[in-house]
Amino acid sequence: MKRRSNIKRHFNPLAAALIIVAASSLVIGYCIAYPQYAKDTLVIYVCTMVCATLILAISTYIYKSKRTSIDEKDITKIIEDLNTEMIIWSDNFSYVFINKKLRDLLGITADRSDKKEAVWTAFGINSPDESALMKIAGSNSYESSFRNPQGSLVSIAWSTSPVKKYRKQSVYLSTGFNLTELKKMRVNLASANDFFHSSMELAEIGLIMSTDRKIFRASPELMRMLGLKTGTININEFRSLVHPNDRIQFDGAVRSEDLSEIKNIEVRLRSADGSYRWYSYRFKSIAGTGNTLPLFGGAVIDVTQEHEKDILIERLAYIDEVTDIANRNKLVGTGQEIYDSCKVLNYSFWMIVLDIDRFHIINDTIGYNNGNYVLKNFAHILYKFVTPGGLAARISGDNFALLLRDYGDDEMPTRTVKSIQDEFSKLAVDELASINLCCSAGYSKMPEDGNSFLDVMEHAEFALKSSDGTQGSVCGYEPSMHDSIIGNTELEKSLALAIDNNELQLFYQPKINLATGRIMGVEALIRWIKPDGTIVKPDAFVPIAESSHLIGRISEFVLNEGCRQNKLWQKMGYPSIVMSINFASSDFYQTDLKDKVFEALARSGLDPQWLEVELTETLALSDIDFAVDQMNKLRDLGVKLAMDDFGTGYSSLSYLQILPITLLKLDRSFITDIEHDNIAYEIVSAVIRIAKSKKIETIAEGIENNVQESILRMAGCDYAQGYLYGRPMPPEKIQEYFDMDEKRDFNIKRK
Ligand code: C2E
Ligand code: MG
Ligand code: MG
Repeated sequence: MKRRSNIKRHFNPLAAALIIVAASSLVIGYCIAYPQYAKDTLVIYVCTMVCATLILAISTYIYKSKRTSIDEKDITKIIEDLNTEMIIWSDNFSYVFINKKLRDLLGITADRSDKKEAVWTAFGINSPDESALMKIAGSNSYESSFRNPQGSLVSIAWSTSPVKKYRKQSVYLSTGFNLTELKKMRVNLASANDFFHSSMELAEIGLIMSTDRKIFRASPELMRMLGLKTGTININEFRSLVHPNDRIQFDGAVRSEDLSEIKNIEVRLRSADGSYRWYSYRFKSIAGTGNTLPLFGGAVIDVTQEHEKDILIERLAYIDEVTDIANRNKLVGTGQEIYDSCKVLNYSFWMIVLDIDRFHIINDTIGYNNGNYVLKNFAHILYKFVTPGGLAARISGDNFALLLRDYGDDEMPTRTVKSIQDEFSKLAVDELASINLCCSAGYSKMPEDGNSFLDVMEHAEFALKSSDGTQGSVCGYEPSMHDSIIGNTELEKSLALAIDNNELQLFYQPKINLATGRIMGVEALIRWIKPDGTIVKPDAFVPIAESSHLIGRISEFVLNEGCRQNKLWQKMGYPSIVMSINFASSDFYQTDLKDKVFEALARSGLDPQWLEVELTETLALSDIDFAVDQMNKLRDLGVKLAMDDFGTGYSSLSYLQILPITLLKLDRSFITDIEHDNIAYEIVSAVIRIAKSKKIETIAEGIENNVQESILRMAGCDYAQGYLYGRPMPPEKIQEYFDMDEKRDFNIKRK
């Protein structure tokens, strides 16, 4: 190569022409300057030119002949060691040169005689037929396949070009490009792709991708999952597969511009069978670079089963089994969230607590299943009144809650409860035909009515309890309900002071013998009389006293004062009556209760037969064995035992067999509607009958009119207590009562 370029430089025709022109110019110049020597100079010049031309011609001939022989050697030399398969071949294969790379591939040596057969093999032909050779000679990428001596398939793409007048004949130079490895890779890639797709299919993972977020490409598995007919789907078609309730979420995801992280949404998509199934869509946006378009998409996985499991777990944790609405856990969690939002966003919610009136009666009399039926239907009615963002929940037993958004209408809770009551009263099944279904409610407002959701809820419950106790009452929470109560701690402090300052007093409510119409006893009911004359009822402070252990001091006062007062009346000459006192559960479970009662009786000198202890059934039933034991101890002293508020708890007449009571107090809720409610009447008379058979006396609480009195007398009830005879009153008023009673008795006798 180097030599050939040197020769080229020596025989540059332009240089030669320049030399000749320069030399001629010099000679002509010289001849003009020295005309005397012009003739000789020209002769010498012409001779020199002739000689130079001769030398040039001879050199050119030598160069040309030499150059040809160098190229022939060079071509084979050059291609021999090139790292690609090469062949030089003439039309009739009289000349064939195969380079080392191809010889090695074909497994032949340089001196082999059957080189042309080897070329045919390399070209993948059996014989050099015209058309095959034409195809090879005229192609830039003729692809051949053949087996090498080891039996492996070899693929080569040949690029063939003619080399004219090579070794005095037309030859072709074929340059090969070995595709064998590439083909293997392609096969692997194809099978990797297949493997990838079948993995996706096995794992049921669908893929979806888009470069413009308008047209999406779906993988075969996604097509199968969603029943897509083509692998291309536009955004509107895709969106139409999304459940209407999940479209906002879907839109948000598709528009997401945040490229930083993988996102996940769970939406319902209409699947191949037409049903909606839950799918997790994990997606990501990848920004485009100079060479690539942005990509948006990800994996779609059917998570219906997981979703169902989650729903089940959620149900177990947050849904009430009986009514299918939210349970207390859910109420407290969601309620606090709403409370927090109210504070931040400056809006408010009503918290309504509802209680089914006399639900225990329904449960006891028409059976558990019907009881559940009532609860379910009540929940269903509540659910209908839930406004967006609100909640209906069952707190416990027959206690429900309703969270309603407040739109500035203070009448809303009362109106809503009235509508609920209307619907509830219409609920009728044969077994319930004669039961008057109603509910009472208390409500508060959040966030203003408490420092937390639980606070607000407690205040609504407080309002419910503060209602007058009549069926269907609705009562809103007011801070004045416990004016002096700023908080329990405050209340405890002032209650402790009140006890020290003797602000607690006993009021007495007369109990009447229905047979004689005369007073046969009184119930001692505690009152807190504040220095300003305000009378605080026990519901407002007894529960706090119970939780703070102040109740012990209160009960001690009630026991001693009740005994003292009763003995005093006896000493004053009034007829002997029974003094009933109420015990809280913490009092009842004190092991030295018997001693305390004994001491009180001894201190006052009251005969035990004139003292009666009222216990609520829930109190007695929380530890039935202990309760029976404790009751027996009191009975041993000669004290009477009454079961208070019978029917409000989990009343069961079977407890009358176990508990050593002497008197059964039918709760006011039975009596309130006894005039209109047949079933209440039936229950009351049945209870009275059974009690009588157990030698247990009965008293009805809350008698407010003469009709109620006559019905109860008719039912065989022994005693009565209620506003009809007198409200709880201070001792001196009871004395007046005694006096009036005597006069009445005197008048009756005179008649
Ligand atoms: P209780 O033992 O069932 O007392 C009867 C309650 O019903 C009394 O309410 C009484 O005023 C009310 N009442 C009686 N007749 C009628 C009526 O015809 N109509 C209406 N609407 N109500 C009537 P009070 O005095 O507010 O007592 C409420 C509860 O507080 C009592 O229910 C009792 O559980 C508790 N309590 C009262 N005094 C004491 C006490 O000294 N110690 C304890 N541990 N609890 C007490
Ligand atoms: Mg009582
Ligand atoms: Mg009672």
